[in-house]
Amino acid sequence: MCSYLQRDPFVACVPRYLRHGTVLCATLTAGAGQIRNGGMTERFTGSFTQQEPIPEAGIEAALSVLRSGRLHRYNLVGEDPGEVSLLEQEFAAAMGVKYALAVASGGYALATALRAVGVGPGDRVLTNVFTLAPVPGAIASVGAVPVFVGVTEGLVIDLEDLAAKADQADVLLLSHMRGHLCDMDRLMQICEAAGVVVIEDCAHTMGARWRGRFSGTDGLVGCYSTQTYKHLNSGEGGLLVTDDAEVMARAVMLSGSYMLYDRHLAAPAPEVFEAVKYDTPNISGRMDHLRAAILRPQLRDLETQCTRWNDRYRVVEDGLRGTPGLTIVERPAEESPVGSSIQFMLLDWAESKVADVLRRCLARGVELKWFGGAEPSGFTSRYDSWRYAHAERMPASDRVLKGIVDMRLPLTFSLEDCALIARIIKAEVSAVYQAG
Ligand SMILES: *Cc1c(COP(=O)(O)O)cnc(C)c1O
Repeated sequence: MCSYLQRDPFVACVPRYLRHGTVLCATLTAGAGQIRNGGMTERFTGSFTQQEPIPEAGIEAALSVLRSGRLHRYNLVGEDPGEVSLLEQEFAAAMGVKYALAVASGGYALATALRAVGVGPGDRVLTNVFTLAPVPGAIASVGAVPVFVGVTEGLVIDLEDLAAKADQADVLLLSHMRGHLCDMDRLMQICEAAGVVVIEDCAHTMGARWRGRFSGTDGLVGCYSTQTYKHLNSGEGGLLVTDDAEVMARAVMLSGSYMLYDRHLAAPAPEVFEAVKYDTPNISGRMDHLRAAILRPQLRDLETQCTRWNDRYRVVEDGLRGTPGLTIVERPAEESPVGSSIQFMLLDWAESKVADVLRRCLARGVELKWFGGAEPSGFTSRYDSWRYAHAERMPASDRVLKGIVDMRLPLTFSLEDCALIARIIKAEVSAVYQAG
């Protein structure tokens, strides 16, 4: 039926279609026009929101939690530590830290970290201008006020701008947005010199490293999300790590431990809790055994999954190189990222041209997101749409934000899918660029 497509080794469409349903041939989707014209338009039909299934071991463990009827983390029998505590213990070990706490969401982990280090109403908190809404949202949730720090063309926090603003706040909520790690050595120097406490938002960097150190372990607290689109998937969920006993004791109390903190396996000794338990409010946001049961087998696979993301990332990145008008975001040698999404820049392009690229790619099944849009759309929004947080205009950052095009890379995409996606983007960016 579509043998004419098989000239291209990546688009052996019939077997691929039967296997995954990700690539359909042009006859099925592109419409007769293109075929009459004699043209061959490749189209991608995979889903940018389709994650892999939960591993069988996770499904089995989840079923046994369901059969037990004991879903609450403190609903334990005898000495059984339960899935949540085991997850915390295993996550702490995986990250090489002393303490870990599992909570209801990544956003909850961020707010809990802010509270646990003492941020309160009216306090100012430094944070990235390039991030997602839950980050300024976490700051707003404790009544604090974000002070935005600019973004570089490398898509990381602007360390010059950070140094200039470091005296304006006691805490930096650092978002490793879209997995880009800044020079963490320099960042820690700046913050230590200015007495600024660092909380890391590692929603996109679980498993990533800077010079061998796991993301989330340089700052005082590291926060992670286990929401469906992140590196572990429990639907909703979050994790928080620290080596600081008092911060962890406060976080455990905050999360809603009802004085049952001695049931934790990755928390400090009871004496530490004695010192904080009367003045730390309970702001319930616990994780339950069902989610923890789903997460533990995934955590065992994290390293493998990160490699698979990076394989996909490299295929797209290589495929995009040499596209006129398109700038690759080069990654520093010190960084071991996790390529669960990819960004490229259409720097200094007219907005209408960027919109053309997005429209043309979408027509061929490739869903790109743009961080420069004036209106918040889906998960992308710009700092000027967070109107609860007043911000001065930041022209250098505006230029970068306007150029960022973003794409998810779920592990359900094969390497051939990634090569096809890159060909489509390259063709459409080139076409719009050359049209001038
Ligand atoms: C997803 C995300 C969060 C928050 O995670 P939730 O689990 O959805 O609350 C925080 N920061 C960034 C950058 C994220 O993408």
